[in-house]
Amino acid sequence: MRLTNRLIYGAVEGGGTKFVCMVGTGPADVVDEVTIPTTSPTETIGAVIEFLARKRSGVELAAVGVATFGPIGLDPESDTYGCVLKTTKVEWSGARILSPIGRRLGVPIGWDTDVNGAILGEARWGAARGVDPALYLTIGTGIGGGALVNGSTIHGLLHPEMGHVPVPVLPGDPFPGICSFHGHCLEGVASGPALAARLGRPVEEIPSDDPAWDLEARYLAYGISGLVLALSPKRVVLGGGVMKQARLLPKVRRAFVDVLNGYVDVPDIVEHVDDYLVLSALDQRAGLYGALVLAERALAAPKRGL
Ligand SMILES: [Zn+2]
Repeated sequence: MRLTNRLIYGAVEGGGTKFVCMVGTGPADVVDEVTIPTTSPTETIGAVIEFLARKRSGVELAAVGVATFGPIGLDPESDTYGCVLKTTKVEWSGARILSPIGRRLGVPIGWDTDVNGAILGEARWGAARGVDPALYLTIGTGIGGGALVNGSTIHGLLHPEMGHVPVPVLPGDPFPGICSFHGHCLEGVASGPALAARLGRPVEEIPSDDPAWDLEARYLAYGISGLVLALSPKRVVLGGGVMKQARLLPKVRRAFVDVLNGYVDVPDIVEHVDDYLVLSALDQRAGLYGALVLAERALAAPKRGL
C-alpha cells in the first residue's frame, strides 16, 4: 500500500513588526510555526519562503494564504496584484510578496488584508461563527476593519479602510488627532498612539477610572455606529490592544446604543448588545487563522497564476 502525505496549508500574517507563519489546518492542528521580524522585504519574505518550503514528514503543502498589512493590490488584473502599495513603511512600498512565494512553492496562494483575514478567522473558528454579514475591528496601534458579506470579504476600489472614517469632534475635546492624513479621524483620535498622545503616557499606564476611557468609548461608538449603519452586520467583533482595558467594552456598548438612539430598532442591539458587540475570540491569532481560510479558498478556486 502506498502511503500518501496529508494535505495541509501554509498561513502567513504579515505585520509591521513581525510576520507569523504556520502550517496546519486550524487552531487545533498547528503542525509548525515561526515568528519572523519584519525587516527588509527581501530578508523577511526570504525567511517566510524558507519556512514554508521546509520538508515535513507525512504532510504536504497544498496552498498558502497571506493576510498582511496594507494597503495591498487585490485586483487580479493589475500589475500591483500581490504587492504592497504605497505605504508609510517606505522600504515596503511596491514590495512583491506573492510572486516570490508562488515561484518557489508552486501552489495556489490566497491573499487579503490582515483585517479581512481576521474576520474570516473569527467567522470560521471565533466570535463570529456562522454569522454573516459580520464585522471585525481592531483598535490597537492603528484602527482597521474587515467585513464578511455573503461569505466574501469586500474588495472594491481597493479594500475597506475603516479606521479612517470621520468622527465628530466631541464637545470640550481640544485634541486635534494624530492621523497624518486626516488629523481627527477615528484612528487619529481613538487608536493606542492617539490615546497615548492625548494623555502623555502609554496606554498601559492610563488608570481604568480615567475619564479618557469615556471619551474613547464615545469616539469608538461613533465609528462603530457609522459602520453598522452602512453594512448592517449581525455582529461586531472587537480586537486589538486597546480593547484589553476591561472597563472599555461595557462603556462602548452603552455609548453605541446611545449614539444609535433607537434608530436600528432590532432586539439584537436594543436588548442583546452584549452579544452584538463582542471581543475577538482568537485575539492575535485571528488574522493568522484567517490566512488558512484564504489558502483553502485559493485551492478551491485559484485567482491567478503567479
Ligand atoms: Zn485618518
